[in-house]
Amino acid sequence: MSNKGALALLAQYEGDSSEDEVSGTRVSTKRLHRDDDEEPQNKRLERLPVPNFNLNNPEEVVDDPTLHEGRLRSFPHERGNWATYVYIPYEANEGLHRLISRIADSSQVENIELKYFDHFHLSLTRTVILRHHLIEPFVNTIRENISHFNKFIIMLDGLEVYINEEKTRTFLGLQIKTGYDTLLKLVQCLDHCLGEFKLEKFYENPSFHISIAWCLGDQTEKLKSLARDLNQELEQLMNEFSQENWYIYVQEIFCRTGNKLFQFNLL
Ligand code: AMP
Repeated sequence: MSNKGALALLAQYEGDSSEDEVSGTRVSTKRLHRDDDEEPQNKRLERLPVPNFNLNNPEEVVDDPTLHEGRLRSFPHERGNWATYVYIPYEANEGLHRLISRIADSSQVENIELKYFDHFHLSLTRTVILRHHLIEPFVNTIRENISHFNKFIIMLDGLEVYINEEKTRTFLGLQIKTGYDTLLKLVQCLDHCLGEFKLEKFYENPSFHISIAWCLGDQTEKLKSLARDLNQELEQLMNEFSQENWYIYVQEIFCRTGNKLFQFNLL
């Protein structure tokens, strides 16, 4: 993809929200019975999977393993602990849907039981645990620190395999081809914020990606071989589907903490 193409794409995106924050609301009966006059931006919230909250105590998540398909939790649920991460969203498009159906076909042939994400994102932090009273100062620290970042473009590349630290889940993700320097600066900035709250920083050598599918256990070798074959097909799809399918124009980043979602607009 040429720079000219990237600039043309950039020129297509003009809309710029003046809103700074999507929401700081908890799940409530109002949210469950949505009003028609809600802000359009809040539609993002609809698409996010909402954990199984106990409405009498919204901080507490009812942990039902059947709801998370056998995944083991990396940290126990404890009252007042909010699972928190910062990310760039990626909207599924036609090209991605086609890729997913190719992945599904190939994994079936290879007898690999993959599960697919409903929502896609590029992580800028690990999932860390924040105490409830620290949510507001944490979000404010992020807002202050990333306030000087400009919008930028990420170009997507081939499939790569990732594994979580516990080696309990293996992921198939789309790597990034451009945007690394800005992403790294964002991570350094967010690492600084995490440090202020004594929270674990991101990986020393970040490999930015968007996870598409996952399976239980360490299936690195199997998935690597699958990715090798699929990358040839992906190359064809990248030619077949227009460039917009393989770019992210990053205008905002999000912080999700429990059932709260915060938006930070870039300049
Ligand atoms: P994510 O889709 O962001 O949740 O990432 C999927 C998995 O990739 C996570 O469980 C990470 O631990 C793992 N991962 C392994 N190595 C890296 C790395 N160098 N950079 C980013 N993520 C990584």
